[in-house]
Amino acid sequence: MNKFKIIIIICTLISILSISKVYAIVNSCSLLGKTIYIDPGHGGKDSGTTYKNILEKDINLIMSKKIEKYLTSKGATVYLTRETDKDLSTTTVNRKRNDLTNRAKLINESNCDMYISIHLNYISNSKWQGLQIFYNNKNKENEIIANKLTTYLKEYSNNIREPKKENIYYMYKQITVPGILIELGFLSNPNDRYRLTREEYQDKLAISISNAIENYFIDN
Ligand SMILES: [Zn+2]
Repeated sequence: MNKFKIIIIICTLISILSISKVYAIVNSCSLLGKTIYIDPGHGGKDSGTTYKNILEKDINLIMSKKIEKYLTSKGATVYLTRETDKDLSTTTVNRKRNDLTNRAKLINESNCDMYISIHLNYISNSKWQGLQIFYNNKNKENEIIANKLTTYLKEYSNNIREPKKENIYYMYKQITVPGILIELGFLSNPNDRYRLTREEYQDKLAISISNAIENYFIDN
């Protein structure tokens, strides 16, 4: 091999290495400047939906923290409405309503770029399964977020339901910044329940959700 060929090979290697390095930097900063509020549903006295000793509030918190980790690694500033097993209620009367109002207040005051509320679904017919995104009319961006995130999530899984407009939920009617509610799956369905309680699936799902959020912001 002559000297010229060796120089070309070395230059090519250096270019490949620097491209991947630049890509890694771009990738890790793609959400820089974005603030995302994650709301793990329920907590404390309010377990949410349950199946035997599986409590919705626990899975909501585990998943929220995993999503927080992946979004933070992409450069986002992430807040959680709760980091421990508690609700946000400051009253004993109308505790649930007060909890929801306080969550909405935190999210509004943060003026974040997006909120995502994390919940699990439950229905008496155990055949229903899959992740589903709910949104309302409060902010015109909500429908766009719901549709885009659903499209991206479908690339990672075939267990994704169509997004649904729902204007009745008390908490979300109070939130003015853009965002959505994600029902991660049905605790009433054996397949969803099995997956949602396995760490391997939880990580896979948290990565899919944070990638979907990243793609939404790259598109906008
Ligand atoms: Zn819930």
